[in-house]
Amino acid sequence: MINVKKRNVIVVGAGPVGLISALALQNKGISCVVIESEEKDYPRAGSRAIYIHGASLKLLEETSKGLGFELAKDGVIWPIKRTLFRGKEVYVRNYGVTNTQDSTKLPHFASLHQHKIEKHIYNACSEAGVEFVWGEPAKDIDITDEGVKLTTASGEIWEADYIIGCDGARSVVREQSGIQFEGPRTNDTFIVVDIEEDENDPMPIERIFHYQHPAMGSRNVMFVPFKGGMRVDLQLLAEDKVEDYGTEESVKEWLPKVMNPKYAERVTWVSSYRFHQVVVDSFTDEKRRILLAGEAAHLFAPFGARGLNSGIPDAVIAVRGIEQAINATSEEERCQAIDAAANERRIAALWNRDGSTTALHHLQGDSLEMNMKRELAASLVSIVPTLGRWLDEGPYGPKFGPPELTTKY
Ligand SMILES: Cc1cc2nc3c(=O)[nH]c(=O)nc-3n(C[C@H](O)[C@H](O)[C@H](O)COP(=O)(O)OP(=O)(O)OC[C@H]3O[C@@H](n4cnc5c(N)ncnc54)[C@H](O)[C@@H]3O)c2cc1C
Repeated sequence: MINVKKRNVIVVGAGPVGLISALALQNKGISCVVIESEEKDYPRAGSRAIYIHGASLKLLEETSKGLGFELAKDGVIWPIKRTLFRGKEVYVRNYGVTNTQDSTKLPHFASLHQHKIEKHIYNACSEAGVEFVWGEPAKDIDITDEGVKLTTASGEIWEADYIIGCDGARSVVREQSGIQFEGPRTNDTFIVVDIEEDENDPMPIERIFHYQHPAMGSRNVMFVPFKGGMRVDLQLLAEDKVEDYGTEESVKEWLPKVMNPKYAERVTWVSSYRFHQVVVDSFTDEKRRILLAGEAAHLFAPFGARGLNSGIPDAVIAVRGIEQAINATSEEERCQAIDAAANERRIAALWNRDGSTTALHHLQGDSLEMNMKRELAASLVSIVPTLGRWLDEGPYGPKFGPPELTTKY
């Protein structure tokens, strides 16, 4: 006889967004299970998020006391940001050193590697007693008026009132719910290289952006520090071949042109990316039993750090919506609660997609108008210093969120 297990909510995917969803559910006393296709402690492919916004730290702290501060303490906060245009400095700002160990005030941001971010959230889940099923891909989902039935690849059956689909870019939950991604894929390729810090002789903790780095044949190069290392983003030109810049051997050739050659021997990750700029047509299904969160619901280019930073409120607001739906006194009220959560996060996702499109457009400099604006700004910066700020902030897109949201990211 098949043993059917029941919970209030099934979270599909134990990436960072699934972990936060489960933590928020558990801390509200809503029974849940996390179903993850990979085995526990599986190695993640590629390097991903490092920059966590202050708004996300605050939300994590509210979700699980101590978690926001723990991430902040394990991160770095660069005191200096600097922008250069063809090798000439056009902007520098020194904020002074922030005490990351302050237990009373969360910082504006923290920078640490995604595997560390996930570790902290996973530890909080373990302490809270979240239940995990590892190595079981979700396969089929049957959605009825009463709830959901999920069958895993090995035939395990789980029933629940709701599913939060946090199963990433190729989400099975999204596909099984009949929800579609909408939006384009970009043509630009970025090479993302992570470097391990030399602790005996550390480099300055500065975020530096080079428009058209003179040593790199006018390709843009960005340096972003994280705890224990530095991320180097190289934007390829349209005619470039990925294999000429994106293999470990090719990185060893070009990296010494932009930083101390010793770091060519300290490369920990090399990945190449082309980014999608897509958002789902709905964050929920027709029967209001599914909510999507994180990359199951949206994919953005990472400039402006909108991916995980918007996945965190997706998770928290999905849980808030489900809590209200569970307490609803009518079917209409229940559906309204799910719709409110879904609509709020879709508005935010569209906003973030537009923000990262603006950032990409600025970075690419492939339109005549944007190219002229950047050239003009760089040439006039000594007379109009605010243009330096425009050049510095452009690659990250707008900083603020749409006013109607309860949470900005
Ligand atoms: C180069 C780069 C830099 C980035 N930098 C930043 C940054 O600085 N800040 C930021 O906010 N964001 C950044 N991002 C985006 C961020 O990495 C993602 O938004 C984040 O990882 C999404 O998390 P997730 O939990 O939604 O998805 P994932 O991390 O993809 O997790 C999905 C999980 O679901 C599991 N899964 C998949 N299918 C199934 C199934 N059928 N059944 C069960 N489990 C399943 C997977 O194994 C995985 O564990 C960056 C991304 C890239 C590529």
